[in-house]
Amino acid sequence: MTFLPVWEFPINQESKQFWDAAAQNVLLLPRCSDCGFTIFYPRSICPECRSRNLSWIQMSGKGEVYSYTVTRRTSGRFRSHVPFVIAYVQLDEGPRMLTNVVDCDPNNVSIGMRVEVMFESQDEGKAIPRFKPSQ
Ligand SMILES: [Zn+2]
Repeated sequence: MTFLPVWEFPINQESKQFWDAAAQNVLLLPRCSDCGFTIFYPRSICPECRSRNLSWIQMSGKGEVYSYTVTRRTSGRFRSHVPFVIAYVQLDEGPRMLTNVVDCDPNNVSIGMRVEVMFESQDEGKAIPRFKPSQ
């Protein structure tokens, strides 16, 4: 498995619970307790209503490809990883995540394709959520 930190955001006070959960193979995102909006990327203020009344909710890990592109040529550190798929995956709970679709032929990816989360283990106990075709 390749390491493509497409949308990786830093571990900080707002995202620590997300990364701690990912290390346990759980997709956890904040949800606004006032308006119900589910938030990606993790923030301490709801982008819809500015509420700080958020709670962490476990996502199903299921969704569909909203949009995608296949990178077939690139330079630098990702050169040896082509072709790879960069996609927006819309979770069934609502938010869209910038991520990768993996474990399939890039030519078989399509908009609307059902996908499910998988976790790619990294150094220092970290794990990156990516998506693969649903079984
Ligand atoms: Zn809200």
